[in-house]
Amino acid sequence: MFDVAVVGAGISGSATAHELARRGHKVVLIDQYGPASMASGWTLAGVRQSGRHPAELPLAQAAVGRWQTLAEELDGETHYRQVGNLRCARTEPEADRIAAIVEDHRQSGLEMSLLRGRAVQQIAPLVSESVICASFCPSDGHADPQATVNSFVAAAQRLGAETRSGEAVTGLVIENGRATGVTTATETISAGTVVLATGIYGNSLIAPYGYHVPYEVMSATMMRSVPMEAPQMPVIGVANGDTTLRQEVGGQFRIGGGHEVWDGRMALDPWPQVRPPARSVATLVERYSALVPSLGDVRLDRLWCGLIDQTIDALPVLDILPDAGGVVLATGFSGHGFCLGPVTGKILADLAEAGTTSFPIAPFAMDRFAGRAAGSTVELHG
Ligand SMILES: Cc1cc2nc3c(=O)[nH]c(=O)nc-3n(C[C@H](O)[C@H](O)[C@H](O)COP(=O)(O)OP(=O)(O)OC[C@H]3O[C@@H](n4cnc5c(N)ncnc54)[C@H](O)[C@@H]3O)c2cc1C
Repeated sequence: MFDVAVVGAGISGSATAHELARRGHKVVLIDQYGPASMASGWTLAGVRQSGRHPAELPLAQAAVGRWQTLAEELDGETHYRQVGNLRCARTEPEADRIAAIVEDHRQSGLEMSLLRGRAVQQIAPLVSESVICASFCPSDGHADPQATVNSFVAAAQRLGAETRSGEAVTGLVIENGRATGVTTATETISAGTVVLATGIYGNSLIAPYGYHVPYEVMSATMMRSVPMEAPQMPVIGVANGDTTLRQEVGGQFRIGGGHEVWDGRMALDPWPQVRPPARSVATLVERYSALVPSLGDVRLDRLWCGLIDQTIDALPVLDILPDAGGVVLATGFSGHGFCLGPVTGKILADLAEAGTTSFPIAPFAMDRFAGRAAGSTVELHG
């Protein structure tokens, strides 16, 4: 019998399992494939506060606070680099939008500046001189997603958490309105509380009980270059989020952008792989080459798609299922849940342990969707 069963070993679930184990709980972390096998491995892995919705900003700021010392805390690698985030304007309407973002954030106390002319290249020498202006947030950055998730998992294991890979949870066990565990193909795992951090499968296990989070699964094209020598770069993005890139610690550029509704195709070899259509690869190459011309000739060594759980308001659900005590749900991160991971873990652990948290999560309640049908757009800013 476990105190908590955490389903999903992406950054949200692995951070939660670590936090619960750190607090002395008996935890099992279960993933149908393995750690960081879906969004938390496919991600660009920007660690960004700038451009956040006001509801997410306090969480992103708290997360950045923890990212600074996370590697020491976990005694493992995160490859976190606080190199800043540069958001570029390619057109006058984009320039207006970026100026507005800078103004909004200044009022909320986040340090951010608006750069014009050569000031952009002083921060990022490889960026095209055709960029009209850019916002710069020096406290943003990036990390390595696989390393970070592995570090959370290893630290959780050292604290006694049990981890299971290659086991799909097939259902919840709910008795008298309270979760008492989960089922897999071969067994029932008893647990006092269940945390579902199941990414794009956020609805699968709750649908039989009549719950539904309105999100659409979008597929974003990603690519990675061979290692390149380059001056240190911030994460580079654009006003509408259709192009974003950063340099990994090994020198490879990790580049993302164009997105479309996922057609449901996924290969398993042995972990999930979604292949990008050639036309979206071509469009992304054109866009990033215009933004950073010296990357036009770069050799690519990997292409993939990342799947995004895009809610109708582009904000996640962090909540306890109403009327089903003991089920905590985190889904719908809408393409910006990697940065939040270290704080998501604390929030979900609080909810699992005490049913409440001191983090401001009211905007992420599940019942906010009642009667709403508006859409949102995917904007990856790194
Ligand atoms: C292309 C792309 C770029 C992105 N860029 C950024 C960025 O720059 N910055 C940022 O902050 N965020 C970014 N994001 C978003 C971020 O990566 C995700 O929000 C975050 O990784 C979600 O983590 P998660 O743990 O909630 O979900 P996931 O990482 O998807 O993990 C869910 C896990 O649950 C498991 N699972 C599901 N159902 C079951 C089941 N029934 N039984 C067992 N296991 C199950 C899956 O196998 C999976 O491993 C990006 C995402 C993508 C795809």
